[in-house]
Order: sequence, then C-alpha cells, then structure tokens
Amino acid sequence: MSVDPIALAKGVLAGDRRSVARAITLIESTRVDHREAAEALLHEILPHSGRSIRVGITGVPGAGKSTFIEAFGLHVVEQGHKLAVLAVDPSSPRTGGSILGDKTRMEELSRDIRAFIRPSPSSCTLGGVARRTREAMLVCEAAGFDVVVVETVGVGQSETAVADMVDMFLLLLVPGGGDELQGIKKGIVELADAIVVNKADGDLAQAAKRAAQDYSNALHLLTPASAAWAVPVLTCSALERAGVADVWSTIGQYRDTMQGCGRFSGRRAEQAQAWMWNEIAETLLQTLKDDNAVAALLPTLERQVTSGLMAPTVAARRLVHAFRHN
Ligand code: GDP
Repeated sequence: MSVDPIALAKGVLAGDRRSVARAITLIESTRVDHREAAEALLHEILPHSGRSIRVGITGVPGAGKSTFIEAFGLHVVEQGHKLAVLAVDPSSPRTGGSILGDKTRMEELSRDIRAFIRPSPSSCTLGGVARRTREAMLVCEAAGFDVVVVETVGVGQSETAVADMVDMFLLLLVPGGGDELQGIKKGIVELADAIVVNKADGDLAQAAKRAAQDYSNALHLLTPASAAWAVPVLTCSALERAGVADVWSTIGQYRDTMQGCGRFSGRRAEQAQAWMWNEIAETLLQTLKDDNAVAALLPTLERQVTSGLMAPTVAARRLVHAFRHN
C-alpha cells in the first residue's frame, strides 16, 4: 500500500470511517516506509486529538465485557456521542487473531454508524499493541469520536498498559466470588477507578448486591489512587441493559471531579511523558541491536554469559561501550 499521509489525515479529520480504518491499518504496519507515513499522519492529526474521555475496561473472560460494551455503547451513542472501541489483547498471537477480535461480538453496536469498533491487532508484543492502541486512539479522537473505550482481558500485564493510556479504568466483575476478589490480582483492583459488578439479574441479582457490598468493604482496606475520588462499586446487567446509564453518569462525575482538581490533565501529561520514555527505550534498544559492532560482539558475549564465564553486567557494559564508540 502506498500512502499519502496528508490526504489520509484530511479524511480522518472529515470523520470518514474508511480513512479512520486505513489510518489504523497504517499505524499497525511494521514496514519502515509505513512507519514514516504513520508518523507524518500523526503529526497532522495530533492538534485535533485529545478531546475525548478515554475509558479502559477489563475483566476476566466471561465477565461480560463485550455484552457490557455493547449495552453501554448503545446508551452512549443514544446520548448523542460518537464512540470508538479499541482492544488490547496480546494474549493469542499464535492464532494470528484475537479473542477480542471476534467479529460476531457487539453485533448491534458494530452496525451503528455512531460507533467504530476495531479488534486487537495480532502483534505479539504487548509493547507493539500498546503503541498501536495509543496512536489509534488519537486517530479516533481526531475523527470526532468523543468517547473511546479500550478493552482488555483481565489476565495479564495488559491492564497496566491500558490503565496507563486512559483517563478512567473500569473493572468488570461477576457475582459469586465470596469474600475475595475472584482471583483478580490485587494490583489490578488498585488500578480501578470504578468497579462494576455485572450480571445483576435473575437468580444472580441478590448475589450481585452482596458482592458489590463485599468489594466496597474490601476497597476500604486499599489506599485510594486519588484522594479526590473514592472508587465506587456499581451493579449492572449488561444482558438486560440495566444499570449502564449509572456507569455512564459515574464516568461523567469522575471526569468533572478530576478536571476540578487538575488531575485529569495531570494524568494525561504523565502518560504522554511515560509514553515518550517507552519509545526512547524501544528505539534505543532496536538501534543497538541493529548496530554492526554490537552484532559482531553479541554472540561471544552471550555465550560467555550463559556459560557463566562473564557477569551479565560486564557483558552489557561492553556492548553499550562498543555501541557508543562505533
Ligand atoms: P467477555 O468474555 O468478558 O467479553 O464476556 P461476554 O460478553 O462474551 O459474556 C460471557 C457470557 O456471559 C455470555 O454468555 C453472556 O451472555 C453472559 N452475560 C454477559 N452479561 C451478562 C449479564 O448481565 N447477565 C447475565 N445473566 N449474563 C451475562
């Protein structure tokens, strides 16, 4: 594909969905010339990005994430918003696809002209998927999507990556977990800005209420991430589309509170800075690996390190030294 990034940026800014899809495909490409075009495109759209609320959603497989996002998304677009859904799922690179990429998910929402849904790319590194998602988020914003949902599975390190790119992070749980947080790692609970107990319907309605109370009690034992915001625990039924309006208004309250105390822009600024340093680290590492002097030295040093003849620190320093003086 040969690309004119300026023309593509114009299409994105005009809100053209095909341009948005093509721009994200460009961003996902690992080809060097595509990367350059992607950077030119991002440069064009950056001044028009940022005007959205970025919401991360996690939960173990089966918690009801796609059912929830469909119900939530339909509610949000009914309120007059434009919603984009992106996914971060580096967990299934072998199939080349992704469990979050299943086209039959969110059927009604995906047919809605006010929504744009993009499955996770099949890149196998979390770093690669995270970079693409951050950039895709900017593209969606520039195209006028004012609510961006980033979905991830609650099983790995991807939660931290997603929490680091959104304004608000939601944890979706299901009732019936007893007194502890259902195998969800404490670290993930600490990332949550709100907890939503899903499946509060039928036989599970009472259990969901109890679970919400349990979680609420458990949260009191954790130090809140922000003194200005006490993490609320809500219940909903994504299946019956009940309670999603409350989740949406909680997101609004969160945004207002955070904007009121300056944390909203503060969090974004910190994220942008951390992102820059990630890029520096990745670019430097790649440049180092591509370096001839390093490539010549590397096999010997690796052999010496693995056979215990040289300390890893010494080998690392020699490599960096060879790189710097090349
Ligand atoms: P995901 O893996 O987290 O995306 O979960 P899904 O959205 O695919 O839902 C997993 C299963 O839970 C499906 O069979 C859904 O129909 C069911 N489910 C999702 N939300 C609800 C809900 O609010 N109530 C009930 N009873 N079932 C739900």
